[in-house]
Amino acid sequence: MGDEEITLVNETIRSGWITQGPRVLQLEKEFAARSGAAHAIAVSNCTTALHLSLLVLEIGAGDEVIVPPHSYIATANAILYCGAKPVFVDIDPATLNLDPRLVAAAITPRTKAIMAVHQVGRPAELEALAALAQQHQLALLEDAACAAGSEYRGQPIGSNTWSSLVCFSFHPRKIISTGDGGMITTDRADYAAKLRLLRQHGMSINDLQRHGSKTVVAEEYSILGYNYRLTDVQAALGLAQLRRVPAIVARRREIGARYDAAFATVPGVTIFREPAHARWNQQSYLIRFPALSAAARDAFMQKLLDEGIASRRGILSMHREGAYTSRFGVQHFPKSEAASDQCVCLPLYTQMTDVEINRVIEAVVRHAPR
Ligand SMILES: *Cc1c(COP(=O)(O)O)cnc(C)c1O
Repeated sequence: MGDEEITLVNETIRSGWITQGPRVLQLEKEFAARSGAAHAIAVSNCTTALHLSLLVLEIGAGDEVIVPPHSYIATANAILYCGAKPVFVDIDPATLNLDPRLVAAAITPRTKAIMAVHQVGRPAELEALAALAQQHQLALLEDAACAAGSEYRGQPIGSNTWSSLVCFSFHPRKIISTGDGGMITTDRADYAAKLRLLRQHGMSINDLQRHGSKTVVAEEYSILGYNYRLTDVQAALGLAQLRRVPAIVARRREIGARYDAAFATVPGVTIFREPAHARWNQQSYLIRFPALSAAARDAFMQKLLDEGIASRRGILSMHREGAYTSRFGVQHFPKSEAASDQCVCLPLYTQMTDVEINRVIEAVVRHAPR
């Protein structure tokens, strides 16, 4: 966050329009242009983006959605909000993304969609997943919460080349932030129109249109909608942030490359390589200790913390959480569980200094259990 963000937020407050209005429209336009998408629809966060995307696909009670178990809890929660069932399919340990080779075996007559997750911003195998979706007449959608600024086969994530619905997050842990916020890109005008209705109570004429009308107009509510709006104050932040994406991604990739070079030769440590067909934004930097128990991994994290270096555990295995075991019983996805237990997320942020980078590298190398 810098002076541009402060200036744009100030201007917005002084403009007198602070809820969803002209700044949201402008953010949508710029986001669509930068993603190579036909339409972008701003919403309150990525969880609501996923919920609405499933709703426009008409996914509901009795339907199944294939999703990797290895993700933040919001990914599968959005499926439960629709009354549908998340059917977990294990990951490829090399990428931590849905393994396309395991998907076909999980398809049933009730399967409606495949939800790809670009975990830590590393692009999922969209080409293989899109081919499966087409072959089995399923929808494909993307949880791209972490993936702003990443590319797959030369296209920005969000371009709708492989799927019609891509959902982004603007939470502070992602690439750019509006405090909270989200965006959906789509190539379909009918989806875009429906998403705009659903995010604002199903209201046929929004307040901005009413405000600009020279005649008295009344709105109607013909479908059940939600209040999932982004505000103009948040959109102002987003506009300044969006313009920083290339610089943010470049710096993150620089730090990631420094870490890769330092950790590639440390015994007992596995690093995650950029897939050949992708450009990865380095949203989070994970290292893995394939021979360690979760307890030994936590002891390593404690040693870092004792030196003032905060780290985080790996990505969740959603199926192990109470919200899922209480509904679906105990399930096992060994590759997801092992990755959750053996990974550590290291500090990586745009403003990191060379001194800080070296301090993290030195401490990780010294404490790495071998
Ligand atoms: C952060 C995250 C979400 C949730 O995003 P919010 O904007 O906080 O709702 C969903 N999926 C993944 C993979 C995430 O990392």
